[in-house]
Amino acid sequence: MAKSSIRATDLEHRRKINFNIGKYNAVVPQGKKQFAFLEESKMLAKNRKWEAIEHLDQYLLAFEQKITQRGAKVIWANDATEALEAIGNICKQKKCTTLVKSKSMVTEEIHLNDFLAEQGIESVETDLGEYIQQLDGEPPYHIVTPAMHKSKEDVAKLFAEKLGTPAHLSPEELTLVARKILREKYTAAEIGVTGANFIVADVGGIAITENEGNARLSCAWPATHIVVVGIEKVIPSVKDLPLFWPLLSTFGTGQQVTVYNSLITGPRQKGETDGPEEMYVILLDNGRTELLKDTRLRESLYCIRCGACLNACPVYKNIGGHSYETTYSGPIGKVITPHLRGMDEYKHLSYASSLCGNCTEVCPVKINLHELLLDNRHEAVVSGKSSLTERVAWKMWKMASLHRAMMNMGNAKMKNWVVNTVFKGWTTHRAELDFAPQTFNEWWKEHKQRS
Ligand code: SF4
Repeated sequence: MAKSSIRATDLEHRRKINFNIGKYNAVVPQGKKQFAFLEESKMLAKNRKWEAIEHLDQYLLAFEQKITQRGAKVIWANDATEALEAIGNICKQKKCTTLVKSKSMVTEEIHLNDFLAEQGIESVETDLGEYIQQLDGEPPYHIVTPAMHKSKEDVAKLFAEKLGTPAHLSPEELTLVARKILREKYTAAEIGVTGANFIVADVGGIAITENEGNARLSCAWPATHIVVVGIEKVIPSVKDLPLFWPLLSTFGTGQQVTVYNSLITGPRQKGETDGPEEMYVILLDNGRTELLKDTRLRESLYCIRCGACLNACPVYKNIGGHSYETTYSGPIGKVITPHLRGMDEYKHLSYASSLCGNCTEVCPVKINLHELLLDNRHEAVVSGKSSLTERVAWKMWKMASLHRAMMNMGNAKMKNWVVNTVFKGWTTHRAELDFAPQTFNEWWKEHKQRS
């Protein structure tokens, strides 16, 4: 049975998700209070991302020029293979045996940890949620809160099993255990890898926002810092950060502003006391220009990965992050994955939506997510990717809907049989369709005659 079907009936899973999303829902309204004009702020953010994506080439080149002047090396990677090859070469040069990594979805996208393991390099996740997931051998469950589906009891059990800690430790004790282990890894690692929340074009910097300080340690302690970032993360100016940082923290976690906000503009400069000796920035395409060339889908590149649409989605809340079997789950994942990884294999994701529009409503950069899902469905149909049975069934449905005489043919019992047999998939998880004994057309004729 599909993972989604199993998860949808897993009440314990639903309890944990509802608990955690409930906490998120309780704090987000508090965070929103800091915006005197929230709708206008969201619109402004959308406009700034529009500006960045419409002139993506120029802003990326401006970024490259600036950060290169300060000694960083920029590597352009067309796909995951090129990105991994570049990282592999740097690791070889630096004779790297241990690498620390801060939370980054883009490194999940290119499966960096698997690649490093094949090279015999230990890659340690340093974000607590990611560390928990790594210990459990699972990918992140959610783009902001990777271990959202685990309770504190689950984590205590996991630590006891994998690290031999006493059972039933409290969250504070568990954090201390992780901290002790991770501190040693920071000092041993030759390389630190981070993602970036924003590429800031005018100053040539990468902006990272986080609550634990692990990204700072990952890029400040090891001698070499590698940033892996999707090309769409660019914003035009450092003056945009006072808009994007609070928006991301409020919609991501309900905070007014995240605890640590760093703007890194290169490796350690002459006279500076800390920071890496070398810094590499890998600008990753990996299908993003496919989205860019489509003038409607292009706005999906405005995403700042806050996770709000996941938390708002009734489907996500039922089936959970792992059922999607993709790096990016929830509404934004459903929009972009068929284009990043192929419509043939991932078109079904766009159908896993009630089209309620809640995702669009909550998005801080006002991406028309539910409409883009409809566009994906449309594309799947016009490019002939829907099944023959589906096409025939909808043709029959359309024909019947357009011809009154056909709608009036047969009685309710017969219609029930036809519809519930032909549209079998519909009734797998739903009640069967039940036609009224009298059609509206028949009812109308009867009542019109009476009046
Ligand atoms: S699509 Fe919007 S709501 Fe969803 S993660 Fe991206 S920015 Fe957040």
